[in-house]
Amino acid sequence: MNGKGRSPLPHISRASAGRAVRAASARHLPRAEGSAGSARGQGFMSAGGRTGKEGREQGAVLESSRRAMVEKLQEMGVQDAAVLRAMGSVPRHRFVEGALHPQAYADISLPIGAQQTISRPYTVARMIAALRAGREGKKLGKVLEVGTGCGYQAAVLSQVSVEVYSVERIQSLHELARTNLRALRIANLRLQYGDGTQGLPDVAPFDAIIIAAAGLAVPKSLLLQLETGGRLVAPVGSTQQMLQLTERLGADEWRTVTLENCHFVPLRQGVA
Ligand code: SAH
Repeated sequence: MNGKGRSPLPHISRASAGRAVRAASARHLPRAEGSAGSARGQGFMSAGGRTGKEGREQGAVLESSRRAMVEKLQEMGVQDAAVLRAMGSVPRHRFVEGALHPQAYADISLPIGAQQTISRPYTVARMIAALRAGREGKKLGKVLEVGTGCGYQAAVLSQVSVEVYSVERIQSLHELARTNLRALRIANLRLQYGDGTQGLPDVAPFDAIIIAAAGLAVPKSLLLQLETGGRLVAPVGSTQQMLQLTERLGADEWRTVTLENCHFVPLRQGVA
């Protein structure tokens, strides 16, 4: 995992992780972005990173775009209140370049460098909701994300999970995510540079695994790092891709259902 002291996201014990998340979100409540009392309006921090009148105006525009994005997600069928709250609280614009801020809350993927993209908000919400379905509002436990990219989905995941580990194979993106996430001070999220198809054997087993890039099949090593009752969601395919949800039923038994069409960058082996 991250070297101690270097990490902007200090390690916290499993037992204290839930408390730390609540403390972090309480500390950053409404301020510039949130509309007090609104479940959807809770923001991490001031929106644009600028100060003064211009910054406040830009912040207000981004905040209302984010609320509109959450409403659209609901219209598209995302019903999980905790996921909607998380999507309403994580400032997606802070994960893309300034020139892309006006598009940050549109339901589209956007470039993040190294020929990779930040996933569509709908896809992020849909995948996390699929992992949580039937959990009656309970947080996910220990979660692995393969494909940190810019760190956006990891930030959303951290809001609905006890702890999140996210692995990225491209070093420049791992560093980008680290920078993007530093300011959000998310205590229950750890970033790792490496090949995520190997999983994290030292940290496994996981309650949930989310793969943010499409392979021709789900790597067996990841299926083996799920705990019994745990779930994995992943895009599978090359030009034609489907989102698949797999549940581990026992030591040697998994059940997979196909959810819907999707479009992801490829899952690759090794590091770059
Ligand atoms: N969740 C990201 C989406 C990033 S796109 C976000 O919110 O921005 C998918 C990412 O998966 C890319 O950054 C790509 O480099 C990464 N990836 C592909 N194969 C990988 C692997 N084997 N291990 C780790 N990351 C991988």
